[in-house]
Amino acid sequence: MTNPSRTRAFTSWRRRLSAALACLALAATLSGCDSPGAISGQDDSDRPVVLTTFTVLADIARNVGGDKITVESITKAGAEIHGYEPTPQDIAKASRAHLILDNGLNLEAWFEQFIVELDVPHVVVSEGVEVMDISEDANAGLPNPHAWMSPVNVQIYVENIRDAFIELDPENREYYTRNATAYNAELETLEKNLVQGLSGLKENERALVTCEGAFSYLARDAGLTEKYIWAVNAEQQATPRQIASAIEFVKDNEVPAVFCESTVSDAPMQQVVQGSGSTFGGTLFVDSLSEADGPVPTYLDLIRHDTDVILQALTGEKP
Ligand SMILES: [Zn+2]
Repeated sequence: MTNPSRTRAFTSWRRRLSAALACLALAATLSGCDSPGAISGQDDSDRPVVLTTFTVLADIARNVGGDKITVESITKAGAEIHGYEPTPQDIAKASRAHLILDNGLNLEAWFEQFIVELDVPHVVVSEGVEVMDISEDANAGLPNPHAWMSPVNVQIYVENIRDAFIELDPENREYYTRNATAYNAELETLEKNLVQGLSGLKENERALVTCEGAFSYLARDAGLTEKYIWAVNAEQQATPRQIASAIEFVKDNEVPAVFCESTVSDAPMQQVVQGSGSTFGGTLFVDSLSEADGPVPTYLDLIRHDTDVILQALTGEKP
C-alpha cells in the first residue's frame, strides 16, 4: 500500500539525487549546484540514508541494504526503546534521512509525536505479522510489540524492508531482493535451531520467567509457557502483587531458573529468586543489541545467545 506522503518524499529524494548527479556532471561549468553531500544527510556518499528506531532493526535492515544503503539506529545499543525520549539531535538527524523504519505495534511510544514533525517517509516493518495480544495488566488486549523475537516474523520484516528499499532505490532492486532472500534463509535456519534447541527441555523446565513480557513470540515458537513480572517496559511497575504472582508461579511449577533483560534492572527478579528459591539464569537480550564487542552485536547473535542462556540455565547443562 502506498502512502501519499511516502511517495512524495521518495520522489523528492529521487529528484534531489537526479539534480545532484546533473550538477556533478556539469560541475565545472554550472553554478548554483548543491554540494554532493547535501543530498545524503549525514552520509558523505550518495547512498540513501535510512534510520531505524532501534538497533535490532538496524542490523536486520543492514542485511538487506548491504553497501547500497547507509543504515543507522536512532536509539543506541543498550537504550530502553519503549519510553525513549528523542533529543533535538535525533530530530535533526532524522530530518536529513530518506526513510525511517519503525517496528510499530505500539513499541515506540514516542514515535507518533516524533514523525509528525518530520517530512520523511516511514515504513512499519511489522506490517503483516501474526500479532499476539498482551494478556495481562493495563495493556491487556493490545498487540505485543516484540514480534521480532520470532525469526519467522522477522522474515516478514525483511520482505517489508526489501520492498521499502526497492521503492527508495529501484535501480538496485535485484541486489536488495538477493540480500533479502539470503538473509531469510539464515532466519529459517535460526528458527529451526531455536525450536530444536529448546525442544529437549523437560516438563518443569518448559517455563520462561522474565522481567518484561517480551518473549511471547519466542515462547510460542518453542512451546514454552511464559510468565513475566510486568507486561511492557513502559508500564514497568514491579508491584508487590506482580512479584508475588511470579514467586507463586515459580514455586508451583518448580521452575529451576528465571531471567531478566539487558535494558532493565534485574532487582525485581532477584526478589523473585529470593522468594521462590529458584536461581537467576542470566540476562536475555530483547529490546537492544549489545555494542559490537558485546555478546549480541547482531540479531542472529541475539536469538542464539538467548536460546543458549535459557537452555543452559533451565537444564543446568552447557549447550
Ligand atoms: Zn520491550
